[in-house]
Amino acid sequence: LVRLKNVNKHFGELHVLRDINLEVSRGEVVVVIGPSGSGKSTLCRAINRLETIDDGEITIDGKVLPAEGQGLAKLRADVGMVFQSFNLFAHKSILENVTLGPMKVKGMKGAAAKELAMSLLSRVGVENQAQKLPAQLSGGQQQRVAIARALAMQPKVMLFDEPTSALDPEMITEVLDAMVLLAKEGMTMIVVTHEMGFARKAADRVIFMADGEIMEQATPEEFFTNPQTDRAKDFLGKIL
Ligand code: ATP
Ligand code: MG
Repeated sequence: LVRLKNVNKHFGELHVLRDINLEVSRGEVVVVIGPSGSGKSTLCRAINRLETIDDGEITIDGKVLPAEGQGLAKLRADVGMVFQSFNLFAHKSILENVTLGPMKVKGMKGAAAKELAMSLLSRVGVENQAQKLPAQLSGGQQQRVAIARALAMQPKVMLFDEPTSALDPEMITEVLDAMVLLAKEGMTMIVVTHEMGFARKAADRVIFMADGEIMEQATPEEFFTNPQTDRAKDFLGKIL
């Protein structure tokens, strides 16, 4: 469903993505881990074309991501993204936050968008917050709204970039639970996270990045019990 072929990206002198080759199948859940600065966020942003790439090719469901233009907006709608900071529209209600995209981008009618939004909000357990403003919700609730908002666009793949790292510990579980549920429902997911519990529970594959390179790929079981490279061993030693 998602394919990266020889993708390279520089920021000036810095080579942040080095010849990345990655294929993610439909329904697969891939967890990306690695030290700070290894290029995990850049990888996510490249897949969503929030960042351009220098060379190589990214395809979503068989279609090559164009650099810009109409095709881009359409393809981008196939890729949902949830960031560390929830990025909700502060002056719009929770419900409006979720209905806005489907109405504006997909031309959905108000009533249909509302119905969709309410069903997604209830899926992540915040349906009773629909009329509130983002600031009236806890961080965990806001992040679940952000997930519902991304899902409202009916994406083919969901990208998560450290979705729980800005949350207080007691709120992490509720967000991870919503993500595990999504994974069980068969959503294709690429998740940057250091939450090993999530990786063990939901990931089909763990990718370890360092210095802009994919150093290792394995099942969570294999990776956590038997990492191959010194970099991975060193990294796991620090976070486990
Ligand atoms: P973290 O775990 O801290 O989130 P990361 O693996 O997500 O790290 P990236 O954010 O992808 O790492 O950054 C990779 C490298 O690219 C870093 O050295 C970073 O400083 C650099 N970088 C990221 N964005 C830019 C930018 N817009 N301009 C210049 N350099 C950047
Ligand atoms: Mg990052």
